[in-house]
Parts: sequence; C-alpha cells; structure tokens
Amino acid sequence: MNTKKIYLDHAATTPVDKKVLEAMLPYFSDNFGNAMSLHSFGRVAEDAVDEAREIVSNFLNCQSSEIVFTSGATEANNLSIKGAVKSFQINPKFKGQKPHIITTAFEHHCVLDTCKSLEKEGLAEITYIKPDKEGFISPEDIKKAIRRNTILVSVMYVNNEIGTIAPIEKIGKIIKDSRKKKYSIYPLFHTDATQAINYLNCDIEKLGVDLLSFSGHKIYGPKGVGALYLKRRIPIRKIQDGGDQEGQMRAGTHNVPGIVGLGKAIAIIDKKKNKKIEILRNYLMKKVLQEIPKTKLNGSKKFRSPANLNFSFLNVEGEGLLLSLDMEGIACSTGSACSSGALEPSHVLLAIEKKPEETHGSLRVSLGKDTTKKEIDIFILKLKEIINRLREISGNILKEYYNSND
Ligand code: PMP
Repeated sequence: MNTKKIYLDHAATTPVDKKVLEAMLPYFSDNFGNAMSLHSFGRVAEDAVDEAREIVSNFLNCQSSEIVFTSGATEANNLSIKGAVKSFQINPKFKGQKPHIITTAFEHHCVLDTCKSLEKEGLAEITYIKPDKEGFISPEDIKKAIRRNTILVSVMYVNNEIGTIAPIEKIGKIIKDSRKKKYSIYPLFHTDATQAINYLNCDIEKLGVDLLSFSGHKIYGPKGVGALYLKRRIPIRKIQDGGDQEGQMRAGTHNVPGIVGLGKAIAIIDKKKNKKIEILRNYLMKKVLQEIPKTKLNGSKKFRSPANLNFSFLNVEGEGLLLSLDMEGIACSTGSACSSGALEPSHVLLAIEKKPEETHGSLRVSLGKDTTKKEIDIFILKLKEIINRLREISGNILKEYYNSND
C-alpha cells in the first residue's frame, strides 16, 4: 500500500487551505465576539463579517448587501426555493394561485428534495427538465416549460456528479425576455453554483441570475458555511425565524470564523491553476479510456468542469471498486457522497439514461489544486489492477452459476 494517501474526491469536499485556517483562527478565541453585539467585541466580529461580505460581493460582482451568509449551499438552496414560494403565497395579489417551479431532473438532492416536498405538500407545481444523454440542459426546453404561474427557474451551474456545465447565461437571457413579455418580476432565476465557483465565471450580471448559492467546503474553505447572492428587492421571504441577522433574511448567530474562512477561500481562488488541473484531468481520462476496456465516460467531453471525471466500468460493482481503492489509500466516489451508503443507482446517471449495468460500476474522480501527476499515475496503475481483479471475480462467479445451472 502507498504510504501517502491519494485524495481524488474534491467534489465531495476539500481540505481547508492553510491561509484560510490562519485567517479563521483568531475568530475562535481572541476575537470571539457576536457580530450583532454593540460593544467592541461585537464590532471586531462585525468588521470581519463585513470584510468577508465585501470579498464575496466583489467576486460575484454584486452589492455587499446582496450577500446572505448561510450554513452552506443546502440552506442557501432551501432559502431560494422555499423563500420564493413563501413570498408568492403571502402576496394577496396571487391569492388562491399555485406557483410553478422549473428545475432539472439531476440537481443536487437539496434542490430536488425541496421541490419534491413542496410538490407533495401541494404548495407548488414542479417541472423537472431532463438533461440530454451527455447531461446538457437545453435552454429551449426551459423556455417551453415556462408557464403563466412560473415563479422560479433553478438550474445548477455544474453538475456535482458528472461535471457538465449548464448554459446559465443563455437561460438567463430567456428568463429576462419572458419577464419582459409578461411585464412581471417572475420567473426568478436561481443557480446552484457550488461546483462552479472554483472554475467558472460567476459574475451575476453576466449570468443574469437573481439568486446564486455556494458552499465554503468545496473551495478550500470550512464546512458549515455558505452564501447566497440574493438580488435586492426580489420577492423572497425568510424561512427561518429568531433574529434579524443578514438583512433579516437568515436568523441565527453568525458563524464568524466560518464566514471569515469563506471570504479568505474566495480571496485566494486562483483560476490560473485550472489549466494545470484540466491537463492532468485530460491525461487521466485518455489513459483510463485507452487502457481499461469496457469503460465509458459519463457526461460531456466539451462542457465539463476541468476537475471532474465520471466513468462506468462494465462488469464491476462501484462499491467494491471504491472499497478496493480505499484499501490502497485512494479516495474517490461512486455517485455523490451524500447518497453513498445507499446502493440505489445515482439519479444523475439515471437522468442521462445510463443502463443499469453502467450505473452499477460508476466512479467519480474529482481532482484538486494540489493533485500531482505522480498521484494520477499511481491511481491509474491501481485502478487497472483492481478492475482486472474484480472482473475476474465476477466472471468466475458467473461461470460457476452457469455451470451449476447446466
Ligand atoms: N449543491 C451541490 C451541487 C453540491 O455539490 C453540494 C455538496 N455536495 C451541495 C449543494 C450541498 O452543499 P453543503 O454541503 O454546503 O450543504
């Protein structure tokens, strides 16, 4: 076994960068104040939160008052979707009407489950747009799905399992046109940019979004903190009561060290590193597809996050593959980390119409800014060995089965 572990699961989470940790540390102990307190301890904390807000708003090209810090992308997505529904419900103008939401069939569960529960509770009608076989969402499909009562369109920027990039800018234009035609503020446009922040342009003006969510722990920041860009004056109601924090949009004491860490993580994003990641990713993709037979790449080659790969190895069980890699000190993922443990096929692979035998042997490999060629070479070597072994075992089991049934 390699003594040094190899981490290729950066889409699940990333290590906290040393610079981020350094920035956070004083806010646990020395500067422990509550950012809402009026005394000097509170002011120090508030200044730190404001500084982080400034960094995030500059990065997204919005006003600092349009940033709402949350506990992560899950909460930011819940706030966007449920907050839009709540605002619609309490508006007397729309009394008795049911709102309609458009999303995609392969969103992260925190968007999908939120939509499903609203649907189940009879609070909203939902349209789930299907991606094509490469995971591409067609702006035309979104256009066709818009109804008179559509209040929100929510499309993830980069899919967390297969890495496909959605045409957010094009969808943004369609939505703006639709609003103009209807003389309406609806539909609002939300994107879950959790997997995009590190790699893609997240300028909210360019994208044409009203709401954009992301998380600290995918960008070398801490866990338990995230942010929502919430365009001013759009109809969103808070979904959590108990305090006036975050412009009354998100009740609860600020996670000051987390917010400081999130700000620092944004400040040190270095998009120049993306080329190196992409070159390594392409090298890995080519080698695996060339050297391991009966292997398919899931998702698009062209519209893909530079850090993501997702393969299907036929006649291999994803869980067996994952555990065998883990025994060699290599960490990857099958499906998404949030649903690992469940043996159900990934909803993302099902949405792009992968056959059952393809969903079973799927593996997501996600590179990070410190991934090296040496690590990739060891990974390929071990992967080949393990797949050969697993295929041999499953071949022998099948042979035995057929022999005993002769
Ligand atoms: N959206 C996407 C696309 C994600 O990848 C994740 C993390 N798996 C989330 C939302 C949830 O983020 P958080 O862990 O910050 O709640």
